Amino acid sequence: MLKGGIPIGSIFGIAIRLNYSWFIVFGLVTWALAAGYFPTVDPTLSAAVRVAAGLVTSVLFFGSVLAHELMHSIFAQRFGIPVQSITLFIFGGVSQITKEPQKPKDELRIALAGPLTSLVIGGIFWGVWFLAQDVSSLAVAIAFWLGWINVALAVFNLIPGFPLDGGRVLRSILWWRNRSLLQATRTASNIGRGIGYLFIFAGLVLVFIPGYLFNGLWLAFIGWFLENAAVGSYRQLALIEVLQGHTVSEIMTRECPTVDPDISIQQLVNEHILGTGRRCFPVVTDNRALGIITLHDVKGIPRDQWNAKTVRDVMTPFARMEAVRPQQDLATVLQILTERDINQVPVVEDSNIVGMVGRDNLLAFVSLRAELGM
Ligand SMILES: [Zn+2]
Repeated sequence: MLKGGIPIGSIFGIAIRLNYSWFIVFGLVTWALAAGYFPTVDPTLSAAVRVAAGLVTSVLFFGSVLAHELMHSIFAQRFGIPVQSITLFIFGGVSQITKEPQKPKDELRIALAGPLTSLVIGGIFWGVWFLAQDVSSLAVAIAFWLGWINVALAVFNLIPGFPLDGGRVLRSILWWRNRSLLQATRTASNIGRGIGYLFIFAGLVLVFIPGYLFNGLWLAFIGWFLENAAVGSYRQLALIEVLQGHTVSEIMTRECPTVDPDISIQQLVNEHILGTGRRCFPVVTDNRALGIITLHDVKGIPRDQWNAKTVRDVMTPFARMEAVRPQQDLATVLQILTERDINQVPVVEDSNIVGMVGRDNLLAFVSLRAELGM
């Protein structure tokens, strides 16, 4: 859902992106401020001033959301957890934190960093609100709203349902007490699901109250998102627990049919893909791996060029290829596949392709263990 987004820069090595859904909420907030909030502050304000004030306030609001996420990320990095990106989307912001924390204490600090930042920012805006009383009624209104929204952001995020920050706080405490991250996550994400259902229920009730249709739908929508996120994050962790401690060499496909770089794409399709159903082939000549060609690469070439183009023209060269080593952890493989949005990677040892590992290998490994109750 959050794959797509427009990169707008990076801070501390973390890429900042705007998801397409963010523009909807940016527009809605600006509109609600310009058409709903500012007229109640001062009915004599011109439309142009209200829109300009709405835009400034929105930008400062989403800047505050970004600061909240950024503090999570900075703390995560401090505890040795790489953070790839922060994406602003329709429900706020999300940090792509690639690993679970090592210790409950780390998780507690990472989780609290965001809401505390929001509280501090809220306090600063309320300070401005207090000091600007005699200066400008518009500045006062903007500062008051931003103070209020940041405090609301902190309070909302402290709801103890995983994966909200409060749920992470709860998880870190359960984890610290019971020493099982998986069990703590299960409890915290069940509470997260419960809160999601509660939001959906409250939202649907609101829908029937005149004047609250939009708020009701919005609340139900947030509840639905929370419920999904709670289930998703638990499943992901459960999967990682199964995969951790196992290596690529245990599950990789070793007998990999290789292809010659100088055959045409047409030949590749006829002789290698259609007969076998395989989707990915190491390209090898004189026992030297040149690269890899996948069904995905082939699909990118128009059919009338299949005779003219060779495997060499279309393949991903070795130098640009994502690869794993036989000793690498399976959880890392899952992470690579997910991050790069690819289905398989070659397994490389001493610059030779010794096999392939993909989503299907991981799936087979996981489902077999599930069936055996391991
Ligand atoms: Zn947060």
